[in-house]
Amino acid sequence: MRNLLGGKGANLAEMASIGLPVPPGFTITTEVCSAFYENGNAYPDDLAGQVATALHRIETAMGLTFGDANAPLLVSVRSGARVSMPGMMDTVLNLGLNDETVEGLARSSGDARFAWDSYRRFIQMYGSVVMGVPHHRFEDLLEQSKRTLNVADDTAISAESWRDVVEGYKEIVLRETGKHFPTDPQAQLWGAVSAVFGSWMNPRAHTYRRLHDIPANWGTAVNVQAMVFGNMGEDCATGVCFTRDPSTGENIFYGEYLVNAQGEDVVAGIRTPQPMSALRAAAEQRPMETVLPEAYAELLRVRDLLEKHYRDMQDIEFTVQSNTLYMLQTRTGKRTAAAALKIAIDMAREGLITQEEAIQRVPPASLDQLLHPTLDPNAERTQLARGLPASPGAAAGAIVFTAEEVEERAAQGQDVILVRIETSPEDVHGMHAARGVLTTRGGMTSHAAVVARGMGRVCVAGAGSIHVDYKAQTLTAGSHVLKAGDWITLDGGTGAVYVGKVATIPPTLSGDFSTLMGWADDVRRLRVRANAETPDDAETARKFGAEGIGLCRTEHMFFGPDRIGHVRQMIMADEPEARARAIDALLPFQRDDFASLFRIMSGLPVTIRLLDPPLHEFLPHGETELVDIARALGQSVEALRARRAALSEANPMLGHRGCRLGISYPEIYAMQVRAIMEAAILVSRETGEAIVPEIMIPLVGMKTELDRTRKAAEEVVAAVFAEQGTTLEYLIGTMIELPRAAITAAQIAEVADFFSFGTNDLTQTTLGLSRDDAGSFLPYYVDHGLLPKDPFVSIDREGVGGLVRLGAESGRSTKPSLKLGVCGEHGGDPDSIAFFEQVGLDYVSCSPFRVPVARLAAAQAAL
Ligand code: ADP
Ligand code: MG
Ligand code: MG
Repeated sequence: MRNLLGGKGANLAEMASIGLPVPPGFTITTEVCSAFYENGNAYPDDLAGQVATALHRIETAMGLTFGDANAPLLVSVRSGARVSMPGMMDTVLNLGLNDETVEGLARSSGDARFAWDSYRRFIQMYGSVVMGVPHHRFEDLLEQSKRTLNVADDTAISAESWRDVVEGYKEIVLRETGKHFPTDPQAQLWGAVSAVFGSWMNPRAHTYRRLHDIPANWGTAVNVQAMVFGNMGEDCATGVCFTRDPSTGENIFYGEYLVNAQGEDVVAGIRTPQPMSALRAAAEQRPMETVLPEAYAELLRVRDLLEKHYRDMQDIEFTVQSNTLYMLQTRTGKRTAAAALKIAIDMAREGLITQEEAIQRVPPASLDQLLHPTLDPNAERTQLARGLPASPGAAAGAIVFTAEEVEERAAQGQDVILVRIETSPEDVHGMHAARGVLTTRGGMTSHAAVVARGMGRVCVAGAGSIHVDYKAQTLTAGSHVLKAGDWITLDGGTGAVYVGKVATIPPTLSGDFSTLMGWADDVRRLRVRANAETPDDAETARKFGAEGIGLCRTEHMFFGPDRIGHVRQMIMADEPEARARAIDALLPFQRDDFASLFRIMSGLPVTIRLLDPPLHEFLPHGETELVDIARALGQSVEALRARRAALSEANPMLGHRGCRLGISYPEIYAMQVRAIMEAAILVSRETGEAIVPEIMIPLVGMKTELDRTRKAAEEVVAAVFAEQGTTLEYLIGTMIELPRAAITAAQIAEVADFFSFGTNDLTQTTLGLSRDDAGSFLPYYVDHGLLPKDPFVSIDREGVGGLVRLGAESGRSTKPSLKLGVCGEHGGDPDSIAFFEQVGLDYVSCSPFRVPVARLAAAQAAL
C-alpha cells in the first residue's frame, strides 16, 4: 500500500502485521496531501474526526492518554512519501509534552533527566521544523550550556540543567517567531501534521524530486506513532542498520547504534556511534552485540525475518527501550552498484530470489560505477587523512567548500571535490555535480554517505583528523594546509584521502559482474554492439562483451597526423588528378584501419559508415597550414582561401554532408569501399574466418540516393573481387536519420540490406533541434515538464520513437529479412533500450563503456 500510505507507513503496517514489535500508530494518507494542495491548503472535512478516533486507539493500546498530566502519551509525527527521500522531510519526536505533561512523564518513568531531555528535544525539533527557528540557535545555546556545565556529552546533563535549557529554548522561540511555544498537545499535533505536508513543497524536496524524477502529485503521508524511548538510560538505545553491507554487499549485519540516545542522534554526529556486530568492532568500540545482547539477539531474528519477507536487503531503524526492541522503520536499502550486484547474486544463490529477479535488481546505469577506475596501487601518494569508506571508487579534483561553487566549476568542466564538515539536503545539487564528497564528521549512515552512495559519487565521510575552516577556505590535516582549488584524491573504497592527483587504473570485471552478465545474456533478445573506430575502443568493446561494431565513424580516422594532410589535399584539390593522388594516398591507411578492426572483432559483424560530416570540418584553420597545402598541391594560397570560403556553410549539419558528399565526390566513397573490401579479403585469408563487412551509407533521405551510392559501391566491389580473384559476402545498408527516410522506408528497404537508426541526427531533424544549440533552453523544458526528459539522452518515444517504429515496420514490410539496429547515444540508454525491444529491433550499438549497461538493460527489457 506504498502509494497510499507512503513507504514508511506501508512498511510499518506490514512489519506490525507479520508480528514484529512496532509501536502503535496510524497513517494520514498521501491522498490527504494531494487533496490539501488541490483545495488551497485545506484538509478534508472528516479528517479531524478520523484522527481523533485513531489517536484514541493508540491511547487504548498504550494505556496512556494524549495530553494527560500524569501519564501522557507522546507521539512522533513522521513524514513518508512513496519513495524514500533521505533528509528531505521532517520528523518531530516527543510530541505532546508541555510544562505539565513533562512532570507527569518524569513521575511515571521515575526519570526526570529523561523527561526533560525529551522535552528539550521536542522544543528543538518542533521549533525548527514547524516554527521555522534556525536549528543552530538551539545548538548554540546547548553548546554554551555544555561549556558552562563543563560536560562533553548530552547524556551527562542533569534534569535541572535541561530545565534551564528548556526555558532558554522557549525564549528563543518567542524571540525568533514572536509566538509562544504551543502548550496544547492538539495544537502541537496539527502544527506538526501541517508542517509535514508543507515540507512536501519546500525547495529541498523540490530539488530532490527533480533530480530523481519524482512527480509532485504523489504527495507524502504523515505517520503518527506512539513514542518509545531510547534515551531512558543505559539499557536503552537507538540505531540504524542494514541487513547486509551496503557498500560491498557482504552478508553481514551492518550498522551503528548509540546507547541512551534518541532518533537522529546516530546520524547527527554529536556522539560517535558504535558498531552492531562484535566481528566488526575495534578494541575500543562497544558493539551492541556485547553491550545489549538480548536486544541484539532479537534484532538478528528480526533481520532474518525481514529479509525473508521482503526478499531484499533492508535498511532498518530501531529503538531499544529498557532492553525491549522496537522496530521503527524498514525499507529497501540503498546500496552501491557493487553491493547491488553481490546481493542480487547471493540472494539468487541463497534461493531468496530467482535469477530473473536478480537481473531486475541491478539498475543498468549503475554498472557504470563498477566500470570506473580505482587508484593505481603502485602510484606514488601522500596520505592526508583517513575517513570512512562511504561510497567506493576513486576521484580526484580541486577542493571546493560550497555546493554553489561546485556547480559553477563543474559547469566549466572542472573536476572538483566537495569538502564539507557535514552535508545537508541543501548540498545535494553540489554533490551531484562533484566528482566526490569529503566530510569531516558523520558516519556510514550520515547524509553525505547515504546520498553519495545513491548517486554513485565517491565519498569519504567522517575524516575527523581534517579541520575545515570555511572562512579561511582551508583544509588542515597534520602539517598539511590545503587551500580551495588545491587538488586532493579520494579513495571511497578505503576511506583514504591523498594530497594531489593520484594515478588510477582501469576496473577489473569481477566474478559477480561476469556472472550477472552471463545471466543477462541468457535472457536478452537484442544484440549489443559498440560504436568504435580505434583498435583501443574495439578491444574495450569486446572486453565488455560487444557482439560486433554497429558504427565505425570513418571520419574519425581522417584526423591522424599522418593522414590529415592527404585529406586536406583531397578536399582542396581543384583538378581530378590531384584529388585522385590524395585519395590514393589515403587508401592504405584506411585499409589498415579496417583490417585491424576486422582482426579484433574476429568474425563478428562490423558496420562501417562511409564519410559523413561536412568537408569544411577537415579544412585547415590557420594560415601556415593553408600555405603548406598550397605548396603540396602547387596551387596559390588565394585559390585555396577562396575554396575554403566556398565550402563553408551557414548550416553545415543540414548541408553538404553524408551521401550528398558521396554523390558529389564519388571517388571518396569508392576509395573507402575499396579499402573495406580489400581489408576484409585480407583478414579472411589471414584468419580463415568469414568476414561479412557491412557498408553503411549515411544521411539518406531518398531511395534515389541509396540507388546511386549502392550501385557505385557495387561496381567497386566487383572490381576488387575481380582483382583479388575471390568474393565474399557483404551487406550494403543505410542510416535512417532523416524523417523522410523513416517515412519512405518501404521504398528505401528495396535497396538496403539493413537499416541503422541514427537517433542522434533523427532527434535533431525530427524536433528541428540542434544538439549543440539546445543548451540555452532545453534544460528549462525538462525542468518545467515541457519535455519529460532530454530527448538526446532518452528517446522521445512519441515523436522520434514513432518514426523509428514506422521505419522499422515499413522497412520490414518490403523486406522481412531487413536487419534493424540503432547507433545513436540512445543505444546505451536503458529506457530507450526498453523501447527498442518493443519495436523489435535486432541490435543496439553504443559506446564501449555502455556495452554492459546495454546488455543488462536489454535483458531487463526482455523479461
Ligand atoms: P527519517 O525519515 O528522517 O529517517 P523518521 O520518521 O524515520 O525520519 O524518524 C527519524 C528517527 O526518529 C527514527 O529513526 C527513530 O529513531 C526516531 N523515531 C521516529 N518515531 C519514533 C517513535 N515513535 N519512537 C521513538 N523514536 C522514533
Ligand atoms: Mg531525517
Ligand atoms: Mg527514518
